[in-house]
Amino acid sequence: MNIRTRLAVQFSLLASCILGAAFLVVYLRAADFRQEQFRDRLYERGKNAANLLLQIDEVDERLLRKMELNSSVRLPEEVIAIFDNNDSLVFRSGVDRKLPFAEMIRDVRGQGSVFRKDGEHESYCFNFQDRDLPNTVITSGFDRYGKGKLNDQTKVMLATFLIGLVTIFLIGREFAKRALSPFQRLVQELHSIGASDLSKRVDPGNGSDEKAQLADSFNALLERLQGAFIAQKNFVSNASHEMRNPLTAISGQIDVLLLRSRSEKEYETALRSVQEDLRDVNRLNNRLLMLAQAEIESGMMNFEPVRLDELIWTARDEVLRMNDAYVVDVKITDVESDVDLTVHGNAILLRSMITNLTENACKYSPDHQATITVLGGHEEVVLRVDDNGPGIAHAEQKRIFEHFFRTRNTGGTRGHGIGLALVKRIAEQHGGMVKVESVLGKGSSFIVRLPKVA
Ligand code: ADP
Repeated sequence: MNIRTRLAVQFSLLASCILGAAFLVVYLRAADFRQEQFRDRLYERGKNAANLLLQIDEVDERLLRKMELNSSVRLPEEVIAIFDNNDSLVFRSGVDRKLPFAEMIRDVRGQGSVFRKDGEHESYCFNFQDRDLPNTVITSGFDRYGKGKLNDQTKVMLATFLIGLVTIFLIGREFAKRALSPFQRLVQELHSIGASDLSKRVDPGNGSDEKAQLADSFNALLERLQGAFIAQKNFVSNASHEMRNPLTAISGQIDVLLLRSRSEKEYETALRSVQEDLRDVNRLNNRLLMLAQAEIESGMMNFEPVRLDELIWTARDEVLRMNDAYVVDVKITDVESDVDLTVHGNAILLRSMITNLTENACKYSPDHQATITVLGGHEEVVLRVDDNGPGIAHAEQKRIFEHFFRTRNTGGTRGHGIGLALVKRIAEQHGGMVKVESVLGKGSSFIVRLPKVA
């Protein structure tokens, strides 16, 4: 069921409850009123007959029966019965219908008057005082006119109720349609926006209603999607560009090598160069894979308590294996217990983060020396990687965490600009952050803050 119909149905149900309750009250009131009126008529008929019979001497039982038979105000299927103070029947007129006289007389003694219903018929029984002697009068009849009127009224109310319900449903649907039409237009506009056309925006109109708010939210979402889409496109083209450079170099070297036969020394030199390029491609490939892994939501990754000092020693060994000239010092301070160095995270990603920072420090510094310092005394673990390298210009410091960004003074050092982007992503994924402090010509410090395990 669409929202439009659902709103109309809910609206109609609510209205039908209110209308139904109102009609029920009116019906019950009308039914009470009819009954009261008919009881009054029964009383009047009985009182008249008792008056004539008991208080006018000229009127006897036969004359009264005749009068009653010809009376113009006689009730349909009427019975009038009068009993004396000994409960003996002194008068009866009307149709031959059985009535529980004895029961009614017994009841009237205690209650003064009794009204009762027997199927279609209604009866009224009351005491009539004549010269200090109590007589009992019973009048019974069928309220054809009153019940017919009540039935007619009920039919009119039912018809009004049904017609009202249908009208309310149709009006409700129309109102819902009008209220929802801006949203339908919004849906159509959104349908026309494809993945390749994220520059389009939906029209928020000139109001500040819910439709405008929704359109603004969609436009903000499209803005973000467009940004992410462009970033992804750039990323793919940058990655393939970075990949192509060493592959082209390898292919060129092999082509040159095959032009003529070479000495063993020349083959060895060329193969070493190819090996270096292949390692480069491999390193880039690994970082891209790691980056893809780091893009996964942290909630979907396998996080566990990890000791940073253990990762630091493993990362140090990894970096030292890369180049014999590299030197890595480790300083661990302000540590009172294991908890001071434990974070909740993914060991592979965290180790890769430390390796990247340490390799950079060794790679870019002329002395190839890095110092890793860990401070564990606060609510977070602080990891610093310092070097005595060329430093990073202030303007470039803001950009070094972007994908594929490389500073101008790399001094011909090989690299692809992926490592620091990966470091930033991993730090953020672990609820932490990374920043750089650097002075040109003096060196750089990369500082990572990670929350300690709870
Ligand atoms: P890569 O080292 O592969 O180029 P990174 O993302 O690790 O990629 O680093 C991005 C850039 O930041 C590097 O190209 C380099 O210019 C600069 N950089 C990173 N670390 C240092 C450092 N310790 N000292 C000086 N420059 C650095």
